[in-house]
Amino acid sequence: MILDLFRLDHKVAVVTGANTGLGQGFCVAFAQAGATVIGVARRSMQETREKIESTGGTFHEILVDLSAPDAIDVILDNCEKLCGRVDILVNNAGIILREDAKDVSVENWDKVIQLNQKLVFFLSQAMANRYFLPNQSGKIINIASMLSFQGGIRVPAYAASKSAVMAITKALANEWAAFGVNVNAIAPGYMATNNTTNLRSDAQRSEAILERIPAGRWGTPEDIMGAGVYLASAASDYVNGFTLAVDGGWLAR
Ligand code: NAP
Repeated sequence: MILDLFRLDHKVAVVTGANTGLGQGFCVAFAQAGATVIGVARRSMQETREKIESTGGTFHEILVDLSAPDAIDVILDNCEKLCGRVDILVNNAGIILREDAKDVSVENWDKVIQLNQKLVFFLSQAMANRYFLPNQSGKIINIASMLSFQGGIRVPAYAASKSAVMAITKALANEWAAFGVNVNAIAPGYMATNNTTNLRSDAQRSEAILERIPAGRWGTPEDIMGAGVYLASAASDYVNGFTLAVDGGWLAR
């Protein structure tokens, strides 16, 4: 039956940036759909754990700073010890640094590109080599942005990194679709999380953004849950290399 295709029973899902915001939303959604969830973050994921365990789900955590040179090894070693397999990877962790293009330092540029772009590729590569390609099965969901489509204002490194995320998604899909590995992305619109705290506290920018969203409101972590489960599940087995906007209509304007 069609709804069974969306179930994630017996699947193991790894979500980076699992302590808060959209990452927490993906974790809760996957657990509700039946998956065992492994959260990756650099600080306590207690709130995520409580949300999952309160409804009978299973949550494991890997504490690591994703900017550390050994982060990928730490994640793979722990996944192997915790569950011995991974079926779903969500490359969700990301940072945004707001400054005028004329002031961006090489250090800040590299910080954003390392996490938002380089790690997305190499963690996907590591998971694919260890689990997805040998198993001929796997789901990778990268978190893109409206700035995968647009240039944004005062966030040039972020826009560059998120455009790259969309390109990486297509490039990996082209190579791995034939091996049963689905690589897709979700491009959230303007969501009320830590990522947009500064934006939402700037009255002028906040009003301009809100006026442009056809749905007339900021998105929430709950808004991305359905798209996440869809792209993580067998319901999307013939969807490859696509970036799905969950944006209240922002891109339609
Ligand atoms: P968020 O609340 O700021 O979440 C970002 C996550 O990444 C947090 O869990 C954060 O951990 C983690 N992270 C950052 N640097 C890390 C590091 N070095 N090591 C480990 N974890 C690290 O914002 P969000 O909105 O949920 O963002 C999730 C994703 O959605 C990001 O890729 C973001 O670019 C993307 N996105 C968001 C929006 C939006 O409007 N909110 C729109 C488009 C795309 P800490 O809490 O420790 O910092």
